[in-house]
Amino acid sequence: MPSEKEEKKEPCTEGSAVGITETVLRDAHQSLLATRMRTSDMLEMAGQLDKVGYWSLEVWGGATFDTCLRFLKEDPWERLRALRDAIPNTRLQMLLRGQNLVGYRHYADDVVKKFISRAKKNGVDVFRIFDALNDTRNLDTAIRTAKEVGGHVEAAICYTTSPVHTNESFAALAEKLASMGADTICIKDMAGLLTPEVAFDLVTRLREKIDLPIHMHSHDSCGLASMSYLKGVEAGAGIIDTALSSLASGTSQPPTESLIAALAGTPYDTGLDLSLISEIADRFREIRKKYGRYESEHTVINTKILISQIPGGMMSNLAHQLKEQNALDRMSDVLLEIPRVRKEMGYPPLVTPSSQVVGTQATLNVLTGERYKVITSETRNYFRNLYGTPPGVVDEEARKLAIGDEKPIDRRPADLLEPELDRLMREIDGKAHSIEDVLSYALFPIVSLEFFEQRESGTLEPEPLEPPVDAIPEAPAPHFAPTEFIATVHGESYKVKIAGAGHKVEGKRPFFVMIDNRLEEVMIETLSEIIPTMAGEVETPNMSESYRPRASKEGDVTTPIPGKITSISVAEGDTVADGDVVLTVEAMKMENKIHTPIAGTVKKILVKIGDSVNPDETLIEIEK
Ligand code: MN
Repeated sequence: MPSEKEEKKEPCTEGSAVGITETVLRDAHQSLLATRMRTSDMLEMAGQLDKVGYWSLEVWGGATFDTCLRFLKEDPWERLRALRDAIPNTRLQMLLRGQNLVGYRHYADDVVKKFISRAKKNGVDVFRIFDALNDTRNLDTAIRTAKEVGGHVEAAICYTTSPVHTNESFAALAEKLASMGADTICIKDMAGLLTPEVAFDLVTRLREKIDLPIHMHSHDSCGLASMSYLKGVEAGAGIIDTALSSLASGTSQPPTESLIAALAGTPYDTGLDLSLISEIADRFREIRKKYGRYESEHTVINTKILISQIPGGMMSNLAHQLKEQNALDRMSDVLLEIPRVRKEMGYPPLVTPSSQVVGTQATLNVLTGERYKVITSETRNYFRNLYGTPPGVVDEEARKLAIGDEKPIDRRPADLLEPELDRLMREIDGKAHSIEDVLSYALFPIVSLEFFEQRESGTLEPEPLEPPVDAIPEAPAPHFAPTEFIATVHGESYKVKIAGAGHKVEGKRPFFVMIDNRLEEVMIETLSEIIPTMAGEVETPNMSESYRPRASKEGDVTTPIPGKITSISVAEGDTVADGDVVLTVEAMKMENKIHTPIAGTVKKILVKIGDSVNPDETLIEIEK
């Protein structure tokens, strides 16, 4: 089916009508509703969308894969097949993060090849492929494979502004992508930073260098996207990305209907039927209401983005994350910290996964009250060049804080990876029903495993659309006391949360307290002996015997912030090298990899998954 379809619809070229890619089923809800739109709501309007005559419908990839499995408890492959069945006549498009596929790390070539060939088989026609650092080595396997399986390769340039990014450098990149076999070139302006004049110049330069249709993808985050599209189209761009008005604007794409109207009667007329589209948009206005829980004030037009460069999806997810932490008031601090961290990392474009690396590190720099006090493993890997070569020069001081004297790699990161597929198949044997299951597991092992088990036992339950009622706390058990409160001192209010308590030393016990979301260690001489072990939970003194010993030796592994153990990657008796990851602590909804302070042997593991831990405790003992 897809091959005949491709013959019917050649990508538009110079002189023809401008093509429209509709993003309502992918980027629009990823940018506005934290990627939560369910397949049932998509299928309702799929047949109508198929009638419009779009150049393509973006329906898959990006964050949708993860969200399907993790929150909606849907099989993303099933979603793709269902959409393919319901949309036989329009190209289906996906967003693919090069060697990262739709996950957050580099996968071995065998996984990349299999993923792309199965995506094609299940219904994808157009593969929009990008690399966060514009490192073309990371696009190589994906582009090659997508071509081999008969897909349309749309190679993307991640557009950003920085001292090291110029239109000239982007034109050179486009030339390289064309030589690698791209069918179309996308200008991927994920933060909506393109201005009309720059868009005109950029498209003009690209067309001087290459003979391929140019596809513009922008976000209306700064209110510039429609203007940039128009100027880009005037310079020769052939396809633009828009979203139905009911899920458009702000951090999403500009409205489909408005662009159709703007181009009507010009040489660039899209020829699409406004009244049909308007009907579909009306229905999505109703559908959007169901997802009110995921709306955020941070998805409207925000011209501060011209400074912070936060892309739509990142802004929406960051807001959601900070909201869950009751830390939304720190948003403006985080927005100021992000450009600093980005500069220190050599100006990566802010798009998944580099947006997560920069965003999480910046958030930790703000919430812990000290820059680089806590360094995520992603930051470490970034400075090791494991994401690719940074576009600019990195700050050596920051790199040293992250990886010490270790030398960053100069090869393609995936060259370091052994084939993974056989091992994964063996690992998940019996639980996976298909090669697609194995691929889900390859990308998101923990989430997929849980998904398979719940599928097996018939207990798959999507995250509820109604938010949990925060105002009614769970019934308190005996001895429970409040650990989160507003303290008013001399008319100033502080939000105080006791996140944990440590070991008593000389009659005083350290309490790890979040004051207005800043972590403070407070030494308290307690009068009545109550020991909070985590937020909302207080244990009586007689349970204090179960406490882990206070960290005192060089090889004692500790956590820098109170949190919960989510994984343990060593066993007693294992040998570890200096800096190896030994466990993961989830704090502030982020996973923090904890490294061993010394090389040696794992003598004792004092934690199990799910334990709440505090900064002064020994979690693992390592002996030289
Ligand atoms: Mn986007």
